[in-house]
Amino acid sequence: MKDSFNREVDYVRLSVTDRCDLRCTYCMPATGMRFLKKAEVLSVEEILFLIENLALQGIKKVKITGGEPLTRNEIVPLIKAIKEVKGIEKVTLTTNGIQLTKYANALKKAKLDGINISIDTLDPDEFRAITRVGELKRVLSGLEKAVEVGLPNIKVNTVARGELTEEAICDIAELTKTNPIHVRFIELMPIGLGKSCPGLTKEDIFSVLESRYGKLSPFEHRLGNGPACYYSLAGFKGKIGFISALGHCFCAECDRIRITADGCLKTCLHMDDGCELKTALQTENKELLLQQVFSAIQRKPEKHHFLESQGDSRLMSQIGG
Ligand code: SF4
Repeated sequence: MKDSFNREVDYVRLSVTDRCDLRCTYCMPATGMRFLKKAEVLSVEEILFLIENLALQGIKKVKITGGEPLTRNEIVPLIKAIKEVKGIEKVTLTTNGIQLTKYANALKKAKLDGINISIDTLDPDEFRAITRVGELKRVLSGLEKAVEVGLPNIKVNTVARGELTEEAICDIAELTKTNPIHVRFIELMPIGLGKSCPGLTKEDIFSVLESRYGKLSPFEHRLGNGPACYYSLAGFKGKIGFISALGHCFCAECDRIRITADGCLKTCLHMDDGCELKTALQTENKELLLQQVFSAIQRKPEKHHFLESQGDSRLMSQIGG
């Protein structure tokens, strides 16, 4: 499926819930969140109808996101069922890791192709402060379990907050020293509550790592679906990646669409231009669905406008970042 800028769109980021078992300060307010009602969230049947039809249009890769996807009860059978959809080649998951110890084995059995775990700090007190309610040790034991059961393509995502000290950056990078996993530093995006948080650039982190460990050598191969660029460090098992939507705009290679938990197709993380698919999914109206998907993809913007305009006013957990 090509968009109007001749980009092949073959990747969907599918949010399966807007709920989460954490309350990260840059994502949700402490109180007063209004979550979707169960009936508003796409059902398993609606999701499968959607994915089957997207696969017919050339979607090959699905990333399951949230909110926190492991808070959704049917998550493992849902992943298994998506894996079985003809034309879908890869299903991956992004998680905060809080429930990963419990799910790692089942996800491995469901043949999940990759997992991204968000860890913004290795300091338990700071972790609690950022997530308001989270216990770091649960996430670390989830990560350990994921490595132990042999989940493939494990990546740790760290938001490059302005508060990250040199020590903290190095501690996180060192997760890849002995573990066959990759660490990615993600530039803070001006979305939702992220608009008011200061962040570090790729260059800031790069220079901290090089001064501590020596040269970061570019790793030319792709590791998964995302726009990260990766580097190797001598003596480290995994790679260090950077995702910098602002500093190094990667929109020219954008291959993705997003589906929110309530069935809205978003053509760009930043824009609030979207298309409501829920009616077509509820009524299994294939013709309407394909027409809506096609016309939304033709409206996919050439690039984001993070620096010039307000963009989507929803929070990250409501978009499915
Ligand atoms: S950032 Fe992720 S883990 Fe934190 S509250 Fe938002 S959805 Fe949950």
